[in-house]
Amino acid sequence: MKDICCGIDLGTTNSVIARLQGGIPHAIDIEEGQAIVPSVVSFDPENGQVYFGAQALNRFVAFPSHTVKSVKRLIGKEQPITVGDATYLPEEISAMLLKHLAAEASRVLGQPVRRVVITVPAYFDDAQRRATIRAGELAGLEVMRIINEPTAAAFVYESPAVSGEGTEELILVYDLGGGTFDVSVVQLRGDIKEVLASCGDTALGGDDFDERLKEHFLELLQQRCDRDLSEDFPLQVRLKDIAERTKIALSVQPFVAINEVAVTVIDGEPVNLAVEVGRGEFEEMTEDLVEQTRRKVMEAMDEAKVVAEDIDRIVLVGGSTRLPAVQDMLAELFEQPMEHSVDPDLCVALGAAVQAGIITGEPLRQILIDVSAHSLGTRTIDEVDPETGDADYFSTIIRRNTRIPVTRSEVYYTMQPDQKRVEVEVFQGESPSCRDNTLVDSFRFDLRPAPIHSPITMEFSYDLQGIVHVTVSQKGYGNTKTVAVDLKKAKAAAKQAEAGASGEPELADKPVNYLSQKARQLLQESRLAATSLHELKALACAYEAAVVNGEDEDRVDELEDQLVALMDALEEERDNLG
Ligand code: ADP
Ligand code: MG
Repeated sequence: MKDICCGIDLGTTNSVIARLQGGIPHAIDIEEGQAIVPSVVSFDPENGQVYFGAQALNRFVAFPSHTVKSVKRLIGKEQPITVGDATYLPEEISAMLLKHLAAEASRVLGQPVRRVVITVPAYFDDAQRRATIRAGELAGLEVMRIINEPTAAAFVYESPAVSGEGTEELILVYDLGGGTFDVSVVQLRGDIKEVLASCGDTALGGDDFDERLKEHFLELLQQRCDRDLSEDFPLQVRLKDIAERTKIALSVQPFVAINEVAVTVIDGEPVNLAVEVGRGEFEEMTEDLVEQTRRKVMEAMDEAKVVAEDIDRIVLVGGSTRLPAVQDMLAELFEQPMEHSVDPDLCVALGAAVQAGIITGEPLRQILIDVSAHSLGTRTIDEVDPETGDADYFSTIIRRNTRIPVTRSEVYYTMQPDQKRVEVEVFQGESPSCRDNTLVDSFRFDLRPAPIHSPITMEFSYDLQGIVHVTVSQKGYGNTKTVAVDLKKAKAAAKQAEAGASGEPELADKPVNYLSQKARQLLQESRLAATSLHELKALACAYEAAVVNGEDEDRVDELEDQLVALMDALEEERDNLG
């Protein structure tokens, strides 16, 4: 049976294993449908059983001395961990976690997982990296590569609009996890990804936010009971758990009411915890923590010799980036709204899976990312510069870095009674003036007679294939027109026009051999995405031309290999579509 190569984010708090499927990375749901597995191992000395993930985490309260958390903090050190009567090296515990992840993934996929790419923080030194490789080997896995977490996160965001030669993009990866914080400036230049600078704090993370709330709860209880409860270990664990749940709830709601019964027992009486916490209050308690991360962001940019305006994209990684205070701080610093384009809990593992695919030569779909790389909008049809009479305002409909697929619309108004038509011009770029942005497409929309200032709705629907469906409609008149704008094609056309080349490549008159015949059949496959078909056609044209023109054998073989690989991937994709 063919084995699969997976990517593993071996985190301090949580771990995720992912694989490439049909050229797209997917996290594997291994624990009751969950892809996020707590990095916890718990031993039962009675029967010798070992528990992992959520099960192990649940045992922590009852068996703290038999449960190991955050082993990543110790990896690379020789200092053994004592569990009951036994001792383990940190890498031995990590090995157990890796083995568990790989075994569960194999079970879910029904295929063996033997080869892996494992991610580590950019600041890991040689000893920590080597210990991580040893952990993989102890788990019986072949560690094909160790890659940096920020680089992995950047892999997922390979933008269709910027990938290609000569393009350069600066990405700031902000990773706030459970117990650690990292910020890195990553440069993407074609296929090369380089970490220009990386700063962080290995003792700052979501746990510290929980700790503040826990202290708050403890103080309340101590006041109420008038005694010192700081030595009550089960209470600390219970409060910490309540604190984390409260924190997570506060990320989406402004207030949380806590009603927990019997958090501890004093003089035979159960003590309850009933309190309400507001987000504002919580943010005040933790303001300095967010500020510490802001300073590290500045430090990383200084080190990379860049300023906020140079950063093209901000990638949020780690569960704690769901904290609104973190997003607000970054939005202010970079003067742009912050959004999670890819799940912050999964994106490191997904990037590792992409790297694994690259190493094993699996075909990658060109579009890995799902964010818009540039803002999209139109020339406004209802605003004219009063001084110049010039109508050149760029009205943004989809902001850059917005998660796609996305649909957004705006309303504009006609400027004349019975206006005959509007010229819809779709632009891409960040300038407020259209002339500084790129015109990607334009079309005419004929209007029904209507009074001046009648509304016209413009809707942009951006899909994962890089196609934007632009729909203009005249409300209440049943008058609508939709035009599909292919951003990649538009870009290629612009490039070709620049180079003076003419037209699209064409297939030969007849199939030149069996492979080209097969490619033509696949080109008829309407279930495949337009960009896939586009890619296939381009490659088939190049291959046929090479055969017809009798180009040298190596070149023909090379194209043939590429074509076979692409067709395999597309066939798999089609079969997955059912
Ligand atoms: P690590 O990389 O250290 O393994 P993760 O990226 O998995 O960690 O992040 C775990 C942290 O994210 C925990 O502290 C958890 O409480 C926090 N977290 C998860 N979801 C949210 C949320 N919605 N709001 C705030 N914090 C969250
Ligand atoms: Mg992490």
